[in-house]
This record gives sequence, structure tokens and C-alpha cells, in this order.
Amino acid sequence: MDYWNPYLETLPRETYDEIELSYFRTMFSYAKVYSKLYQEKLKGIDHEDIRTLDDLKKIPLTEKEEMRKYQEIDPFPYGGLLASNIEQVTTFRQTSGTTGKPIYVPETYESWQWRIEAWCHILYMAGFRPHHRVFLPFGYNVYVAFWEAHFASEKLGCELVPGGALDTKGRIHKILEIRANGMMNTPTYGLHIAEEAKAMGIDPASLGIERMLCAGEPMPQATRSRLEEAFNCHVFDHIGGTEPCAWAGMCEAKDGLHIIEPFFLVEILDRETLQKEVEEGEIGVAVVTPLGRRSFPLIRFNTKDLVVKGKHSCSCGRTSKKIKEVVGRIDDLRKVRGVLFSPKTVEEVIRKDFHEIEEFEMIVERRGLMDVITLRAEPNPVLTISSIEQTKARLHESLKIATNLTFNVIMETPGSLPRYTLKAKRFKDLREGGKNE
Ligand SMILES: [Zn+2]
Repeated sequence: MDYWNPYLETLPRETYDEIELSYFRTMFSYAKVYSKLYQEKLKGIDHEDIRTLDDLKKIPLTEKEEMRKYQEIDPFPYGGLLASNIEQVTTFRQTSGTTGKPIYVPETYESWQWRIEAWCHILYMAGFRPHHRVFLPFGYNVYVAFWEAHFASEKLGCELVPGGALDTKGRIHKILEIRANGMMNTPTYGLHIAEEAKAMGIDPASLGIERMLCAGEPMPQATRSRLEEAFNCHVFDHIGGTEPCAWAGMCEAKDGLHIIEPFFLVEILDRETLQKEVEEGEIGVAVVTPLGRRSFPLIRFNTKDLVVKGKHSCSCGRTSKKIKEVVGRIDDLRKVRGVLFSPKTVEEVIRKDFHEIEEFEMIVERRGLMDVITLRAEPNPVLTISSIEQTKARLHESLKIATNLTFNVIMETPGSLPRYTLKAKRFKDLREGGKNE
């Protein structure tokens, strides 16, 4: 087994803890001096108060909402979130702004290179090597999506093919034309490419993709298997975001995601209290501190990503902490008729047992005093009317077992639901106060 950084990826646990604590204290002190947000937020806490990893609890979490407020002050447009001289900033990125005003993220050349290095760990772990010609089926813009992938692929020695400004058919032709053998995309868009290829009379497995790295959405095991089957390739997952960077990735053992230590200090906290670390196998909220990025410091950033804490050992030999699975955004967990519901459960059921369903969406609405949950499912066009009816009945039954909720299942005509090239929006909460991203 080989590693991108053999030394850093196989350290003893105590050494990781020691290094991360030391980096954390340095970031803490730096942020307190150079970031207006942390000058105020960390007032009254001294770095001498942080002697062990247990002492982190003394420091309040950083929430996205409070960051917006500090962004309003000088210097424009980063305000009190910037912790470098503005003339040192070399790259602008921003969050999508689906939940409010976007956060503008400044990177200096140094901090950007730090992000790229962390990404190299993710790519190398997923088996990307210099012989890969990697196709990126996106037009890049102000969002961070795929810029890191682009530069990290180059650093690793892969050959990078930017695939923007083409429609899906054009991208499929390009992959064939130049014999690309690697790809990075959202799981949803991967499935869409497979569907479109089939419609063009091309077996997606014949495209020649060997490795696929997915991002942007929680990917159930069943969706990953479906992509592997369709493209006859290895599919890997990773997790990250514009603010905290990409902080965990899947290795070739495909058994959970390795936290990229010691680049990030990641805590997985109980979702109700946001206080204590959960046990292995339990769900918690990921709280991330990037340990080497100075332009935009984040101390204990609440990612609002729900993950299952994993074990520490791995057959690949890496010794970093792992997460077993990404559950989804905490905002996506909803109470429907008193039952806690995660849209990922529905995706898992459909991708695993309903290969005849091409696309779907879920809608929750209030009718009178009742919550009504509807699944709009789009079957494969080759299905006969009687098999559509059978699928509908099976869906009803399987969803009831998996979620404890009775779904109103509607079978739609093929091609009627939207297709997504980035993050899919398959869940709509139309009740009063329901959030829609
Ligand atoms: Zn591993």
C-alpha cells in the first residue's frame, strides 16, 4: 500500500493528538490577533487555557450565521473574517448562499496551497495516479467546487481535462474522444451521465472511466454501488465544504472516510447538546477546525453535517480517525408526523432495490392538520403499465418499512422530473417554516 505522505498518514494516535493540539493552539492565538470575529469571540479565553483536547469544550462553536455579521465590516468584501492583509489575497470563493447571504472566502496563495495539499491526500487515497486523465464535467465559477480538484489533480501528476461549456452529450463524446479514465462529479450527475449515455446507445461501462470521485451530496452505499455497476469503475466519496475545506475521504478499502489528519481537527459531537463527543457507531455533528489555513481561520466550525463516527483502524494501514458514513445535513432531518425522517433513507431504498426508477423527489406538505409526504418517481421508459403499477405498490411497501411513514406514491412520465448537474434538490418541505435548500 502506498501513500501520498507516508509519514503523516501512519502516525501513532498519540502523535496525531499532540500535533493537532499544538497546531490548534497556534491557530487559536493567530485568529485571536488577526481576525476581528475571533478577537471578540475568544475574548476571555487564553491559549494557556487550552492544555488538552478536552479543553476545546471551553471554546464556543463558530456558526455560519455569526460569520455573516462580521463580513459586513471592512475590508470589503471579507470583513472581519479575513485574517491576512487584503493585498495577500489571491483567490476569491464564495458559498452558494442557499440558506442566506453567501460567505465570501479569501485565500492567500499560501492558504490555497494548503487546501490543495489536503486534497492531494483525498485524491491519492482514492487511487488517482499520474496515468489518469481526469475529466471534470463542470463549468467552474465563483464556487469552490472542483477548483481544488483541478489543482490537486495537477499537483498529483494527473492530466486534467476541464469539461465545462458542454452539455451532457458533448461531455460524453469528449470522454470517448480523449479516452478520459477518471472523473469527478456529484453522485446525481454521475447517474445522469449514465442515463444519457444509454439514451445515446452507449453503454456507460464502455466510456473507460476507471476511477470516480464523488462530492457535493451524501452518497448512500446503494448509490455508490449503482455508479460502480453502471460505469464498471471504482467510486469513492469525500466530504468537505467551502468554509472548512475537504476534510475526509475514502480509501481503497471503501470502508468509511478517513479524516485528513493532522490537517484538520475534527470533533463529532452529540447533535442535541453539541457538547460531548459521540461513541463509535453513533451519529453526531461534525465540528471542524482547519489547522493550517491562516487567511480565513475557523475555530470549531459547526459544519451541520451529520456523520456516523467510525473506527480508527483500516486495512489500508492509515491510522487517522474515520467516519463510517455521511448521513446528511442536519437541516435535512425533519419531523414528519412525529417521525424523524432523513431523505437519504429514501435514496438508499430506491438506489438499492428499484433500478427501474430513474429519478425521484419527495415533498412534504400540511393538509389540514396532517403532514402528507409524497414520492414522485420517474420510471424507466421501457417499463410496461402493469410493471409500473407493481413498482408503485412495492415502493409504497418498502418506504413504509424503511421510514415508518406512509408515502403517497405518484408515478410520473419519463423525463418529467428535473435533472441536476451539481447538488440535487430532491426534498421539498412545503410546510410553514420548512426550509428548502
Ligand atoms: Zn483506509
